[in-house]
Amino acid sequence: MSAIPRQSSVFRFAPSPNGPLHLGHALSALLNQHMATSLSGRLLLRIEDIDLTRCTPEFEAGIYADLEWLGIGWERPVRRQSEHLAEYQASLDTLIARGLVYPSFMTRGEIRAYVAATEAEGQPWPRDPDGSPLYPDDDLRRTASERRELLASGLKHAWRLDMRRAMEELDAPLFWDETGDGDRGRVAADPRAWGDVILSRSDAPSSYHLSVVLDDALQGVTHVVRGLDLFHSTAVHRLLQVLLDLPTPIYHHHRLVTDSDGRKLSKSRGDTGLSALCERGFSAADIRKLVGL
Ligand code: GLU
Repeated sequence: MSAIPRQSSVFRFAPSPNGPLHLGHALSALLNQHMATSLSGRLLLRIEDIDLTRCTPEFEAGIYADLEWLGIGWERPVRRQSEHLAEYQASLDTLIARGLVYPSFMTRGEIRAYVAATEAEGQPWPRDPDGSPLYPDDDLRRTASERRELLASGLKHAWRLDMRRAMEELDAPLFWDETGDGDRGRVAADPRAWGDVILSRSDAPSSYHLSVVLDDALQGVTHVVRGLDLFHSTAVHRLLQVLLDLPTPIYHHHRLVTDSDGRKLSKSRGDTGLSALCERGFSAADIRKLVGL
């Protein structure tokens, strides 16, 4: 009897080099390593550096050093998203050609002012699961010739998913399989909560949402292990997977590491980084204990 080949499990840790890694990243990387090892699977490292304005080679070098210090090994070569922008653009182009994506011209400041003006009249404006206002539909309602003119004028623009049309492409309810620390089992996905999400902007040629689903598929990722802060984004990822005919990994969203005030650690607030802890004499074993492993 011939043995049935077992599909091997593929995990990935996918940090962005826009700040030093902190304890939250350590938990994510160590859990990925632990789960990959327990399933005799592979562990990939992906550098998510599409935001060219915030990512630096120094932070990227820090990621490699911190992971080595933690005793985490990964396969080489590492995929760096900044080296694959043309691939993300090609997928975006297919969505544009299918009429599922449209150019939007409002800046962040204009959106804020628009929403504030509407709310000043007593009408609450809908927010996405991260608390940002949904995009107003003025650009969505433009005619094809208006769009052509605005694009030709060189006005800065982002490409947004037309959420309503995208949802019409579905022929079955969206869900994903979740094994993490929040809701578990078959989770219903409602991407409409995010409104018309950005898939590409003028200063970053692909969005996190688009590049993450393309890379997970391209790299054969079977298990996505990441923080609970990305739980609700998974609804958008599931929608893009259906639209682009990509496979769906199993998702495991783990608890977040919080500071003494119960706030999530963040790079931008300058929370204690792993290299700083190393310099203060902490060992990799101490870090495991600190993150509760
Ligand atoms: N690059 C993302 C971050 O650093 C993580 C993306 C993911 O794991 O899906 O927060």
